[in-house]
Amino acid sequence: MISKVLIANRGEIALRVLRACKELGIATVAVHSTADADAMHVRLADESVCIGPPPSRESYLNIHQIVAACEITGADAVHPGYGFLSENAKFAEILDAHGITFIGPTAEHIRIMGDKITAKQTAQELGIPVVPGSDGEVKPENALEVARKIGFPVLIKATAGGGGRGMKVAKSEADLEEAVSTARSEALAAFGNDAVYMEKYLGKPRHIEIQVVGDGMGNAVHLGERDCSLQRRHQKVWEEANSPALNVEQRMKIGQVCADAMKKLKYRGAGTIEFLYENGEFYFIEMNTRLQVEHPITEAITGIDLVHEQIRVASGAGLSVSQEDIVFSGHAIECRINAEDPRTFVPSPGTITHFHAPGGLGVRVDSGAYQGYKIPPYYDSLIGKLIVHGRTRVECMMRLRRVLDEFVIDGIKTTLPLFQDLIGNQDIANGDYDIHWLENYLASKTDA
Ligand code: ADP
Repeated sequence: MISKVLIANRGEIALRVLRACKELGIATVAVHSTADADAMHVRLADESVCIGPPPSRESYLNIHQIVAACEITGADAVHPGYGFLSENAKFAEILDAHGITFIGPTAEHIRIMGDKITAKQTAQELGIPVVPGSDGEVKPENALEVARKIGFPVLIKATAGGGGRGMKVAKSEADLEEAVSTARSEALAAFGNDAVYMEKYLGKPRHIEIQVVGDGMGNAVHLGERDCSLQRRHQKVWEEANSPALNVEQRMKIGQVCADAMKKLKYRGAGTIEFLYENGEFYFIEMNTRLQVEHPITEAITGIDLVHEQIRVASGAGLSVSQEDIVFSGHAIECRINAEDPRTFVPSPGTITHFHAPGGLGVRVDSGAYQGYKIPPYYDSLIGKLIVHGRTRVECMMRLRRVLDEFVIDGIKTTLPLFQDLIGNQDIANGDYDIHWLENYLASKTDA
């Protein structure tokens, strides 16, 4: 059994994990950089250890310091949250070698899913539908032959890709040579590796992802989908569960495909299988082998605490639920509140002079922010997540409108006004949007 968890993260997710540990009667250790000494996760943890100066490389990404902090405090497990070391196979291996439980999948599974080509091949072998594309790497010499087979338009992607970099669309044969050569040079500059592969380019897809949890022994369940199509620069902004685009049959069908795949893989822990969805078809894009930012909307509609499940399966206790126990109830929406200018998205660190979080039925605020908190300029600008649940999508939207009016964060700029704007939009009200909708909408507002 796990008795003391070191939380190798900061901000709202460190607090999220801490809350789950407290509920399970597990002691907590916070780690922090010198810039985060006053952070809420540090204040609420049973113990805390300073692991270095503000830059992440020297603190939250410093494996040596984190392992030392485990040894000093006697922590027998580490929860990595999301970002930072959460998808670092080496970190999982090092913890293993020290006899410390990594609350996450095996290093092998992290590695397979961390490489675009092996992830896609593995997904296909497991019966998950993938985007039609090349068999592995594409070279300039065979690009035309491969593209003709797939059919234009095609997308050239970096095998080492991430954050949407090193991706280029070729609409027709005439664009192909240039698309391949720019994708290769961008990939080389960004990742030090110029290998690229090719996929069919989908024009107006939605981003729909399936939440899974496995026990590592061949049992796994799915917890339905999240629609994360509203994105800016590949960053999710607003997420909802269920997707306005799917019906019950579609949900249970793709969910079962993913759960079965995870059983075959003997996957351990929480994971998310991401798809593009167009014309009724799902196309695998990647799998995240960790807890995701938007996991609370799944918790809202299922009532299942995903961090409790992560801790259970990491300690070998198995899942607390079977597929038949999982009932989807109502609708949930998450708004990511960033300390950013709502028009330009320029970060806005500084001191929060007033903070009032909304409340009432169906409202959850996950945030480490408080009145007087000084947001350091060194990290991600996510300062909180607002999650609203209702019996129907309409009720959820009505509640969200009320809750947004109640939320007060003064002293810095936040993206709250963006959501107040979106909640009044007809396309959003209709659930009628694809992955390009938000960018187009923001561009049309700047032009006006
Ligand atoms: P990265 O790891 O760089 O984020 P992904 O494979 O996750 O790369 O793709 C990032 C984004 O690019 C997706 O969320 C989607 O918006 C777009 N994209 C990826 N593959 C395709 C495709 N075949 N057709 C259209 N858009 C795609």
